[in-house]
Amino acid sequence: MTEKDDIMKQETKCIHAGYVPENGESRMIPIIQSTTFKYDTSEDMGKLFDLEAPGYFYTRLQNPTNDMVAAKIAALEGGTAAILTSSGQAANFYAVFNLANAGDHVIASTAIYGGTFNLFNVTMRKMGIDFTFVEPDCSAEELNAAFRPNTKCVFGETIANPALTIFDFDKFAEAAHAHGVPLIVDNTFATPINCRPFEFGTDIVTHSTTKYMDGHDATVGGCIVDSGKFDWMAHAEKFPGLCTPDESYHGITYAEKFGIEGAYITKATAQLMRDFGSIPSPMNSYLLNLGLESLAVRMQRHCENAQKVAEFLESNVKVAWVNYPGLKGNQYYERAKKYMPHGTCGVISFGVKGGRAAAEEFMKHLKLAIIATHVADAHTCVLHPASSTHRQLTDEELTAAGVGPDMIRFSCGIENADDIMDDIASALSFI
Ligand SMILES: *Cc1c(COP(=O)(O)O)cnc(C)c1O
Repeated sequence: MTEKDDIMKQETKCIHAGYVPENGESRMIPIIQSTTFKYDTSEDMGKLFDLEAPGYFYTRLQNPTNDMVAAKIAALEGGTAAILTSSGQAANFYAVFNLANAGDHVIASTAIYGGTFNLFNVTMRKMGIDFTFVEPDCSAEELNAAFRPNTKCVFGETIANPALTIFDFDKFAEAAHAHGVPLIVDNTFATPINCRPFEFGTDIVTHSTTKYMDGHDATVGGCIVDSGKFDWMAHAEKFPGLCTPDESYHGITYAEKFGIEGAYITKATAQLMRDFGSIPSPMNSYLLNLGLESLAVRMQRHCENAQKVAEFLESNVKVAWVNYPGLKGNQYYERAKKYMPHGTCGVISFGVKGGRAAAEEFMKHLKLAIIATHVADAHTCVLHPASSTHRQLTDEELTAAGVGPDMIRFSCGIENADDIMDDIASALSFI
């Protein structure tokens, strides 16, 4: 991120951050669709391998197109460094695994995306990392009691997908820092347009760029951004991976060589991307950048549409309940206003009267809203978890999982709100 990137407003950063063409260069970011890069001498290349000089040698580690887009997201979040990954799952895995290894422990909120929960609770446990899940609205005492000497980070989600719980940044940041560990937050649903977690004590932010950032149902991707504020060396005994020499990388000590602002992302690149290789293709990053250019305008429309749709649903007699943090009666209304004064996201959940059967009937009659296991893009889309993603569960199990048999997850796109509401009204008339 350049100094100029930091001065621009968010809307301007969406267009200009991360890439400034020189005289006669392409206006759009160039797609450097090349696996490798050519050097005149072995010495030149050797310096890159030793991380002695900046530059590119193999796209699995770094690629110029990917770096331009990562720099734009870093500027939007107000961070110092960022890395793109091939999916949001890869971003969350790297973000945690960059700090926690076998024998370590992590605290995570229960209000997180199901895929992340499974990654932590099943797959990363198999790797020997222990997790304690805490309720998002637990007391400070309960949260503090979850820490152990081997705890390496705390993880939460700004707006939980699909529960729409709003994260209590103050409480989680205070507890994490009191125990000398960073707070990692998945900011996918809010995007840096509606929330900048670094302003509320978060140290590392992750994204599934598949959602609003790409915004057009086109590319799967992820991103990790470092605030550059967490002082690894001040807690060197907890983070040997950053604060002692990496024998797999010529004995480099990341926190010394790349400092507080660059150590975390450099380690993720040099170790995790080198070994796991979940890099996005430059072509996909180009498409992600196209999406980012309109992110600020789209987020505003997503939120306006969702507010109208949520209020419309609330006033409809066939609707049993509506969950949207922008509704005054919502449990998280005040907290959403505190951290996201300009709006939250375009996703709403609601239940229709008549339970599972009525919900299934409603789904059959929607015309504009597309049935998809996806949320958060330009097209309005809808999902009835009980008859799709969660169909193996009984009504009782569904309710216990917080996904009642009547629950419909509705993601408002950027169409005209009247058309979205007409579609819903027409489908509701059949139940
Ligand atoms: C979708 C999603 C993910 C996973 O991202 P993929 O790009 O699908 O791998 C992680 N976190 C949140 C909040 C999500 O919505």
